[in-house]
Amino acid sequence: MNLNNVSLTVSAVDMKQYPKTNFKEIAFAGRSNVGKSSLINKLLNRKSLARVSSKPGKTATINFYNIDNTMNFVDLPGYGYAKVSKAEKKKWADMIETYLNTREQLCQVILLVDSRHTPTENDITMLRYIRACCERAVVIATKCDKLSASQLNEHLSDIIKTLSLSGDDIIIPFSTVNGTGVEEFYAYIEEVLEI
Ligand code: GDP
Repeated sequence: MNLNNVSLTVSAVDMKQYPKTNFKEIAFAGRSNVGKSSLINKLLNRKSLARVSSKPGKTATINFYNIDNTMNFVDLPGYGYAKVSKAEKKKWADMIETYLNTREQLCQVILLVDSRHTPTENDITMLRYIRACCERAVVIATKCDKLSASQLNEHLSDIIKTLSLSGDDIIIPFSTVNGTGVEEFYAYIEEVLEI
């Protein structure tokens, strides 16, 4: 896949602002601070296209990244940040739901979970939404450089069990620090794009 021309085209709060392109879309969902911005930057080989911050809860828009006029990556707002008001949480949930329910170009929503932790109730809810609109679950276990190989295996089993992954579902351990998962991710994308 060619990553020479990658840009953030739209930061949308409303469906009227979604780009009018017909490219296939892969969306990324996960709780705040799970490592979503870092992962997008890593996948797109850019330092700071997506904002990375140690302060969670800042992304309240749906960000569309155009990849060489071939496909869009879509960064959904991070959920589960405790310090956000109820009204704000509802606004984010509505934004995510509207995107999932209306976007015909959407091929897959990828759920990001922290490889060190058991998925939360919010993650389980998110996966339920994903199952309603996608044929299979694709999960990325982030920050896997923070675990030893044996710890990682144990934690992956826990994630698979908690999220009830099976059959065609995919789980990819990922690290922005040592590049684990990047190749596997792009092999998956090639399958989605049928290239
Ligand atoms: P977001 O809120 O989901 O977009 O999360 P960020 O991308 O802003 O990352 C949250 C924090 O986790 C930052 O301090 C990142 O540097 C750190 N982080 C993200 N990915 C990794 C990873 O693969 N390994 C390690 N060790 N830290 C990571």
